[in-house]
Amino acid sequence: MPELPEVEVTRLSVVERLRGARIASVTLGKPLRWPLGCKPETLIGRRVADVLRRGKYLWMPLDDAGSIAPAGGLLLHLGMSGSLGFAEGDAAPGPWQHFELATDRGRLRLTDPRRFGAVVWGDRAADGPGSWPSTGRAAALLATLGIEPFDPAFDGAWLRARLRGRRVPIKQALLAGDAVVGVGNIYASEALFEAGIDPRAEAGRIGPLRCERLAAAIRAVLGRALRAGGTTLRDFRDAHGMNGAFQHEAQVYDREGQRCRRCGGVVRRLLQGQRSTYFCPGCQFR
Ligand code: ZN
Repeated sequence: MPELPEVEVTRLSVVERLRGARIASVTLGKPLRWPLGCKPETLIGRRVADVLRRGKYLWMPLDDAGSIAPAGGLLLHLGMSGSLGFAEGDAAPGPWQHFELATDRGRLRLTDPRRFGAVVWGDRAADGPGSWPSTGRAAALLATLGIEPFDPAFDGAWLRARLRGRRVPIKQALLAGDAVVGVGNIYASEALFEAGIDPRAEAGRIGPLRCERLAAAIRAVLGRALRAGGTTLRDFRDAHGMNGAFQHEAQVYDREGQRCRRCGGVVRRLLQGQRSTYFCPGCQFR
């Protein structure tokens, strides 16, 4: 599943080419998670002003085409197994490609076999190319997201304030994404290992020092994943192998029964909310 690092790597791989690209046509395949929310022909002739990321969403604000068209842009989500890339050659969209944005810089396609992904129109207030959707579904999808992990305001105190009073295990509180975005299943296990916190620990009872360690660990793990993704960009595009690259560095994720690289104990797996959690009982404490 594409997580924050994979989405950021995707963004970096398309932003240069898309910035300033003029839309020539829009082709929709089978329905995605949500309808587009605008007539495709209203997008034609407009330029992509930028490609931004918030959580696992990409936001492409469009110029207003001389204020004929409504101000706004496209919000994209890669769903469970989607990927974004430029079509090479003149081949028609394949059976898993359900959205194509043909531009004067190339044809951008969303490949999404399971169709949990989405491309949604978002209205925005007309105050510059970088502004985010302000009304409708796109704005609502972004409104519940927690802080970005690389935002300078994200630290232990921020995390502790957001976890206060929560009685769920810390792993699940992180996965919810309303405290901090980007900590998916793999990265939650890895960050908790790095911070020395048992994934079953009650979220609201984690003290200031451990919250500080956890915030730092989240940033470090996501940073490493981002760098690992950067080195396998080409593979990710056609085979979504991003997580595979990071797994070579994983300390506990998907290592049940193997030796802990830090203490030599045995890595264990448990189920939390139907998701596998990996941890080392010798290194992580409640
Ligand atoms: Zn250990």
